[in-house]
Amino acid sequence: MYNAINALIDFSKNISNNNVFKREVSCFATSEDGVISITSNNSSGAVEFDFFTIWEYFKKNRPKNICMIHSHPDEIDFMSSIDENMVHGWVLALGVEILFMITTNNGIIGYMCKKVNNKVEIFQIDDVTYSRELELLSSVVYGMSSSKELSQESIDNVAKNLIESGIKPSWEII
Ligand SMILES: [Zn+2]
Repeated sequence: MYNAINALIDFSKNISNNNVFKREVSCFATSEDGVISITSNNSSGAVEFDFFTIWEYFKKNRPKNICMIHSHPDEIDFMSSIDENMVHGWVLALGVEILFMITTNNGIIGYMCKKVNNKVEIFQIDDVTYSRELELLSSVVYGMSSSKELSQESIDNVAKNLIESGIKPSWEII
């Protein structure tokens, strides 16, 4: 079935052929409610999630399965110290465990981040199955991050489409 998500994947692949400009793109989603926000700050060196939107969402909802996806268009396949500090703050602020994901040209690197005995622990997870919807979502996030043609307005449009698509990412840790 070819649907809106497949169209977005094709779109993100086509526009990223000319792999010059690179920016980080961040996506916050839950299995319960789908995509909550997608942001890009037009820079390749920083990861930013939309705290205001996510916080407003958390005031009204209690999701248990949360993922934070961001691209590494420079293809670095591990968390930066900025990533670690940031997810540390999110786990404490939201009081939930978070699947933190880096998406690169070579696929997804996933980490489970949770509070254990008053400390935030981060484990890289290898034995995990991602749903097709989650893989599609991470492909779109990666595709958007490596296009110089894509304006902020286009990013906002793709984000709006993904939020409205009802795509619900899920995963199973084995
Ligand atoms: Zn990062």
